Amino acid sequence: MMLSRLQTDCKYYLGNGNRNKENLWAGDEQRQIDEMKKLYNIFSEDEKPEWLTYEQILDYEKLMVSEKLFCPNCQKSITPITTEYEEGLENFESGKICPECEEYIY
Ligand SMILES: [Zn+2]
Repeated sequence: MMLSRLQTDCKYYLGNGNRNKENLWAGDEQRQIDEMKKLYNIFSEDEKPEWLTYEQILDYEKLMVSEKLFCPNCQKSITPITTEYEEGLENFESGKICPECEEYIY
């Protein structure tokens, strides 16, 4: 399996795929990430892809596998905002907004 294909799966999952793990090659978030780590580590230091870093894989892991957050106001579970995904991972790292009460959670 190509690493770029696995990354494309992750982008789709976090974007238009609505976090449906059926869209992942591995069919499971953690297995998908584990496979990406494995493939990434197969590359020797000067072969490592320029379009993906190990830190990015860890970011995907955080976004896809991390435990659910709960809003301190309404106690609803919150998943990372996926509609802003195209603007970059930074949007996720900076915080999350509760869809119910629009509380910003850090
Ligand atoms: Zn809320």
